Parts: sequence; structure tokens; C-alpha cells
Amino acid sequence: MKAQTTQRIGVLTSGGDAQGMNAAVRAIVRTALSAGAEVFAIYEGYRGMVAGGSYIQPLNWDSVGGILQKGGTILGTARCMEFKERSGRLQAAKNLLEHGIDRLVVIGGDGSLTGANLFREEWAGLLQELVDKQEIDPFIAAAHPHLLIVGLVGSIDNDMYGTDMTIGTDSALHRIIEAIDAIFSTAASHQRTFVIEVMGRNCGYLALMAALATGAEWLLIPENPPDVADWENKMCETLRAGREAGRRASIVIVAEGAKDRQGNPITSNYIKSVLEDRLGEDTRVTILGHVQRGGSPSAYDRIMSTIEGYTAAREVLNASPEEESLLIGVHGNRPSKSPLMECVHQTKAVAAAIQHQEYDKAMQLRGKEFVEAYRTFRTIVQAKPRVPADGSKPYRFAVLHTGGPAPGMNMAVRVAVRIMLDKGHQILGVRNGFTGFAEGLIEELGWMSVSGWAPEGGALLGTNRHVPEGKDFYAIAKNIEEYQIDGILMIGGDYGYQGLYRMLTEVENFPAFDIPMVCLPASINNNLPGSEVSVGVDTALNNIVEAVDKIKQTAVASNRCFIVEVMGHYCGYLALMGGLATGAERVYLHEEGVTLLDLLSDLAHISKGFQLGKRVGLVIRNENAHNLYNTNFMMALFEEEGGDLFDVRQAILGHLQQGGNPTPVDRIRATEMVVKCVDYLLQEVGKPNPQSAFIGLQNEEFVFFNLEDFPRMVDTKFQRPKVQWWMEMRDIARVLAQPSA
Ligand code: ADP
Repeated sequence: MKAQTTQRIGVLTSGGDAQGMNAAVRAIVRTALSAGAEVFAIYEGYRGMVAGGSYIQPLNWDSVGGILQKGGTILGTARCMEFKERSGRLQAAKNLLEHGIDRLVVIGGDGSLTGANLFREEWAGLLQELVDKQEIDPFIAAAHPHLLIVGLVGSIDNDMYGTDMTIGTDSALHRIIEAIDAIFSTAASHQRTFVIEVMGRNCGYLALMAALATGAEWLLIPENPPDVADWENKMCETLRAGREAGRRASIVIVAEGAKDRQGNPITSNYIKSVLEDRLGEDTRVTILGHVQRGGSPSAYDRIMSTIEGYTAAREVLNASPEEESLLIGVHGNRPSKSPLMECVHQTKAVAAAIQHQEYDKAMQLRGKEFVEAYRTFRTIVQAKPRVPADGSKPYRFAVLHTGGPAPGMNMAVRVAVRIMLDKGHQILGVRNGFTGFAEGLIEELGWMSVSGWAPEGGALLGTNRHVPEGKDFYAIAKNIEEYQIDGILMIGGDYGYQGLYRMLTEVENFPAFDIPMVCLPASINNNLPGSEVSVGVDTALNNIVEAVDKIKQTAVASNRCFIVEVMGHYCGYLALMGGLATGAERVYLHEEGVTLLDLLSDLAHISKGFQLGKRVGLVIRNENAHNLYNTNFMMALFEEEGGDLFDVRQAILGHLQQGGNPTPVDRIRATEMVVKCVDYLLQEVGKPNPQSAFIGLQNEEFVFFNLEDFPRMVDTKFQRPKVQWWMEMRDIARVLAQPSA
């Protein structure tokens, strides 16, 4: 018998399906193949592992082509009672050994991962039993003394400890928010109340984030049941007050596992009956159900699952029997590695805390982001602001945009208005950026003036690219004095940063500028210093993904290569991440430049792909990747050199990238950043030498940078940060795009 020389990995999806599992499978398979390993699909989860035979099959590079955009899992998933028994696992071990597989990447929930760990622990004993029963050759058992596993979490509930987001959560939130936005418009037309039930048996993440992102008025989650005995009355009062304040639509969001303090379930039908009886309102129930699992994965799920899959494949190939099994998740924008079983135990601890009615503990275990999101939700959904008890003088803050519109800007203004008012201060909206500031287009914003702003794309306050200079300073200073403005929040892009920075440098000439000023990054280009991501980029990425999915579908009759041009100004973030999310063969960035030699070698590579049977090619370029080798040039070159093998089409995506309703991520990010910016302004306002800053998101932490450092942190010629974290992701794009020679 010939000895096996390569490492063999099995990959399976188990438990509930989740959008993004396919992206993970694709990344695992291609990364492992690139590293010289062999990969086997185990179809239908543990059921296939126990059944063996045709359920276990080798995968090649092309087996995982064209699956990025598919929801569900191409490997299939199932529940399997036999695997819970030792006899089932014995059979599974035998089946794996038949193919020489002793490394597994398991994508599933805590049940699946618990099963995988148990299997690993029992492995030596199972092999001994198989040898004793003469079911396997002792040499084979000796060649595979250990089973090594790595886990990824596929679960739309985001109910797993050890990762910020589980695979599928963001796509589920997309489905929920699309549905709630749609229901809002019909509810507003008829002055109706809607009760919307979302998934989450033990976890209120989907319900909480959906409520935060839409402007729902009441929320019920398992971790934090209503804390008053007659909560029904309080809910009705809140909804009634909302109506009196002018709200046309009322929405209550309930997680399927919602309970009261005594642990009794609160059902959506019960809430409906309460609202109808006590408010006399026409109330409808919508249970979103499996819609939440459906549809194409979001850009976030595709990218994060890809990054996790890439990391998992490398980990499982390098894993050692002495080390604990790892769970690969995400922390911020990067992959995270945590001890698998500790994550499973902590996950179970939350479920147990809920069951034992230890709700404070349950909330705490969910983490800081969850608790803060809950607090913010409670503040911004009130019908009107609380009146501060101390009767102190309110401060007055101006809010404005600058730069191109970025989806999520309106959400940010809405939250800023409500939080400031809630804290007893006033907020003034400045129309049309610095131009409006100079012209005095300034008005006070009330609580209800931002009602309905959460789902709106564009910038309702108006925005432009004007950076103040010369006479503008005088006019702006005059308006700051006239309107008694004590601080400024700028939600926008590079021109806004430049504008506030210039004002800072003019403080000596214009003492009115000696007030705290904060910039919040909102730009689809993601070219702002100090922040890994800005508000608007997630929506833009989803716009790119949707457009490219459609464009690819048009390649029906002939081989076709698409050249897609995306925005970003001189920053390649959209191009690279868009490429990762759509499976582009090549991405062209201004940061790397483009040479004719590159183009010719890429062309040769793409041609080879078509010769081997590929039908669709895709390259993505940043709009400014190269000024001479532009999209038209590339198209002409590819068309001419591609000959009869394939034809070429270009698509310049243009402004559709800036449009559309903001995605859940952009709404949530905008909300979280505003909360921090408001705290910052309130900390600095009234001080003798107040500081000014820009906020950044760095590995899931919010950091403030002194505004004086702005010019030092940017490449002023190309209006992008000097350090761009995402450049480290280029390797993943490269590995997944081309088979090793
Ligand atoms: P999830 O992985 O989403 O939590 P389940 O709990 O249904 O979903 O688990 C999926 C499969 O994982 C089960 O059908 C079973 O085959 C296996 N499994 C779950 N828990 C265990 C366990 N404690 N021991 C062995 N296998 C398990």
C-alpha cells in the first residue's frame, strides 16, 4: 500500500444553515489546495460522516467556483442523532480513515462544535476499537494518531461567544431590516401598529440591532425581560405618547425567545392582543421566520466568511495535537482565534443564565457592545426627551455634512439629535455643509424633526465638497456667535476633516473657533485617517456585490470577461473588498499601480482559465488605479488579445454605489460612533482650551485622534490615510483567485 504523503482535510457544515457558509467553504478549499493539501467534502454534516460512501468526496479548485453568492450551503446540512452516540462516531472515524482524513473544519453552531470536540477527544479510543474489531488496518491507525479540528460558527442568531459576528447574522439582519423598512411605510399609511417577530431563541442580538437600526418603539429580548410588573401598560403608554408626538407608525420587535421576568414566554400574539385591547389600535403580527435564513449573503458575510475560512484552513494544517482546538471568528475586521471549548462553555452559560432568570448576568455575558446598544435604543426611541433634573444651561451644538453623500449619514444625525436633546442640550442642523454654515442656513432640530430618518439614504441636511477659505471663515465665525454654537459635529469625508482642521488653524484670528469640533468618518471611499472603516462603505460594498452578481448572470452564451470599475477616489478599499466579495480574479489598486507587464501576465492567466473551461472572468479596478491604463484601455487590450477565446465587457458602476438605504452595519456603526462623539463633545465643551478630534474605529475600539494630527496621518496628494490596514488582506484575494501552478 502506498503511504499517504499529503495532508487531508474534511470540511462539513452542520446544524442550521446560514448565508456565508459557502464563502467559508470556498476559502477553506482553495487555501488548503494552495498549500498542497487535499480537501474532502463531507456532505449533509455528521449524517454524511456516519454514512460514508458517496457522502465523502474530494473537492478541487473548480468545485467551489461560482458559489460565493449562493445562500445556504452547497455541502448540505442535517441533524444526526447517530453522531451523538459513540457507535455513530465509531463509524464516522472509520469512514474518515478510508480517505486518510484526520483534520476537520467544522462550520456549525455550539452543538456541532461540541460534537466535533468530543470526537477529537475520543479519536484514539475509537481507532483502538476499530483495530481490535479488525475493521481497520493497525498501520492506518498508527498513521493517523490524532484528529485535529478547527471550528467556524455558522448561526444567524449571533449567539456564540468568541466572535463578534457569526456567519449569517449580517445577512439575516439585512432580511429583517428590508422587511421592517417596508412594513414601516405601510404602517405609516394606515396608522397601524405592527408586531414583528424575529429569530433568536436564546439571543436577542437580531431583535436588538433591528430595533436600533429601524426606529422601532418597543423591544422584547430573552436576555433582558421588561423590568416592571405591568410592562404591558408601560409599552402601551410609550406607543400612545409616540402617536401624540406625531408618529404615524408603531413597531414592536420581539425575539422568538422573549420572556417575562418569571420566565414565561411573551408571544407576538399576546402582544397584539394587549395592544388591541388597551390601545384600541389595529395591530398586525408579522413572523419573519425562514425569510431570515434566505437570500444571497451580504457583502459582510461573504468577506468575513472568506477571511475566516482562509484562516481556518491554515490553522488546521498547522494544528498540533498538544494544543487546544481553535474557534476562528472575527474581532473587528480581522480574524480571531479562541479556544473552542471555552467559547462553547461561555455560550452555554448565557443560555443557562436566562433559564435561571439571572438576567444581569446574561446581559453582561453578551458583552459591552450589546449592553451599550440596548442603552442607546432605550434613549432614542422615547417619544420625547427627558428633562434634566439639574436645570443647567443647555449647550448648543451644530451638526453638518461635507463630501459626497454616504448612506448612514441621516441615521447619524437622527441619533445625534435625540441623544443631545435627551441630555438636555440643543442641536442645530446646518444645511449644505460649510457653504450653508457661512450663509447661515442653520435651524434648530427637534425630537420629531428626525423621525423616519433611519432608513433614508443620501443626506437630508445636504452636503457638498466646499472647504472653507478666506471670507468663509469670517462668515462662519459670525454665525457661530450669532447662533451661540458651543461645539460642532461634522459627519462626512475628507473635505470636512480639512475644513475643521483649517478652522482650528484660524483660532488666533477667529476666537469663535475655540470650541470643540469632532469629525465622524462618513464616506463610501473609506479614505479617512484613524478609522478602519467609515459609515457608508458597507452599503457601497453591498451595492457593488449586487451589481456584479447581476452583471455576471448576463454571461450566458459566450465566454465573457468583465472589467468592473468601482469608486474609492485613490483608495483601493472598495476595489479589494468588492473583489473578495465577488470572487474577482484580479483587483487593480492605485496603491499598487498597474504596469503593462502586469496586464499582459493577468491576461495570460485569464486566457488560460478560459482554455480550461471557465466561462466568466471578472476583474475589478479602482477608478484611479492608473490614469493611462484606464478602463477603456484595459477593455481594448483584453478584447484584442483575448481573440476568439472570450469577449470583454466593461461596467463603470458610478453613483449607484453611493445610493440606497443604509445597510444594518452602516446604521449600527453610525449610531455607535455618534454616541461616542456626543460624549466627547460634552466632555470638552465649556473647557478653557477645548480639544478637537476625529473618531476612528480600530479593531472594534473607538479611538479619538487629535484634529491637529490630521495632516500628519494622511497622504495629502491622494487624500488617503498613510497607513491602510486592509492592504494586509491582499494576500487572501490572491490565494483565492488563482490555483497554484
Ligand atoms: P448547532 O450546531 O447549530 O448547535 P445542533 O445542536 O442541532 O445544531 O447540532 C448539530 C449536530 O451536531 C447534531 O445533529 C449532532 O449530530 C451533533 N451534535 C450536537 N451536539 C452534540 C453532542 N453533545 N455530542 C455529539 N454530537 C453532537
